[in-house]
Amino acid sequence: MNRSTHDVIIVGARCAGSATAMLLARRGLRVLVLDRARYGSDAVSTHALMRGGVLQLQRWGLLDEIVAAGTPPVTRVVFHYPDETTPISLKPAAGVRALYAPRRTVLDRVLADAATAAGADVRFGVTVTELLRDDTGRVTGVAGNDTDGRRLFASAPLTVGADGIRSLVARETRAAVIRTAATDGTAFLYGHWDDLPLDGYEWLYAPGSSAGMIPTNDGQTGVFVGTTPARMKATRRAGTAHQAFSALLAMASPAAAERVSAARAPRRLRGFAGIPGYVRQSWGPGWALVGDAGYFEDPLSTHGITDALRDAELLAEAVGEIHSGTATEATALAGYQETRDVLAGRLFGTVETIASFTWTIPELRRLLLEASSAMSEQVEALQRFDQHDRSTAAVMAG
Ligand SMILES: Cc1cc2nc3c(=O)[nH]c(=O)nc-3n(C[C@H](O)[C@H](O)[C@H](O)COP(=O)(O)OP(=O)(O)OC[C@H]3O[C@@H](n4cnc5c(N)ncnc54)[C@H](O)[C@@H]3O)c2cc1C
Repeated sequence: MNRSTHDVIIVGARCAGSATAMLLARRGLRVLVLDRARYGSDAVSTHALMRGGVLQLQRWGLLDEIVAAGTPPVTRVVFHYPDETTPISLKPAAGVRALYAPRRTVLDRVLADAATAAGADVRFGVTVTELLRDDTGRVTGVAGNDTDGRRLFASAPLTVGADGIRSLVARETRAAVIRTAATDGTAFLYGHWDDLPLDGYEWLYAPGSSAGMIPTNDGQTGVFVGTTPARMKATRRAGTAHQAFSALLAMASPAAAERVSAARAPRRLRGFAGIPGYVRQSWGPGWALVGDAGYFEDPLSTHGITDALRDAELLAEAVGEIHSGTATEATALAGYQETRDVLAGRLFGTVETIASFTWTIPELRRLLLEASSAMSEQVEALQRFDQHDRSTAAVMAG
């Protein structure tokens, strides 16, 4: 049996958990991070980073490692519509000259290593099975098992759920859902192709189906198709996963389908059935949620990792205030949630409408402009957070 005491325990060691752990450990807090996954393992996710995510990696000093892992820079985004193709060159802004789409085997490892280097105790192969509480119901830590079946008990004044969409911490604390998307969410099929050259991110849209092509490590291109869960089910029932993928890609863009069919396909495709986006109450006595555990935006935004890195920064700031005695737990954590919800709210709503697949192309183009402007707003807020006043009020001003 293993018993230990920490300042903060974090369940989940991917973008949200490891980033939060790194920031807290850099402040000198004693942080334990537990993840049931293997170190360096992949996740069910494509991996396009938007400007806010690259900005975070850069200012945390981690972007060089992502680049050194052979992650290609992205300086162009091409939007394909049924009757038109719109290429856009990315302008350097917020100190970011290019976007990147590291595989999760690269990104999550770099973040976990950075947390360890900062002094956090990051352990993989440990499944958290329950939260511990005191007589008042306050969360006081976690219990779990390692891969050899050894029991582990850890206690801390704060337990953070960075444990994704099926968060145990959210379930055990009965964290209320305060906003749910009105649509069923987007269902995806995706994989990684060899010999599929492209110049930047390519996003493809047609009524009923959408797709993306993302240059990544090892010279590969991640390709995804997304549609409504109902259409995905019907398409998959009609044939193999590869056939469903080809049919949906041809629907999004016949020209792209031709390019992809000339490249070397992966043996296996991965799927995601789609769930409606949600925003959860993300704190209570002794606990907080970060990343997908607390806020899940439809993956069609390709902004979830960027969201997780943003929220890691906001939560670490709030925990720092508690730890230094400048704010009470309730004030600091309520401020964290409020800031997150103000920053993220506009994009959440726009992406929800895009994921409905009920738009016409002119409507979609307006929605994409709106999404781009909402993302820029978040980048500006993150910059204010960095440069001036780190209080949550300052982030929301402007
Ligand atoms: C199909 C798809 C495509 C996507 N594409 C993109 C994209 O292109 N760009 C983008 O920015 N975002 C994308 N996203 C969203 C992105 O994957 C998520 O927003 C991101 O992974 C959230 O990170 P996280 O750290 O909060 O959670 P996760 O990455 O889900 O990590 C949670 C971790 O918690 C661990 N865990 C869970 N329960 C326990 C437990 N009880 N004990 C111990 N450990 C536990 C898990 O093992 C896991 O490692 C996509 C999502 C999907 C589904």
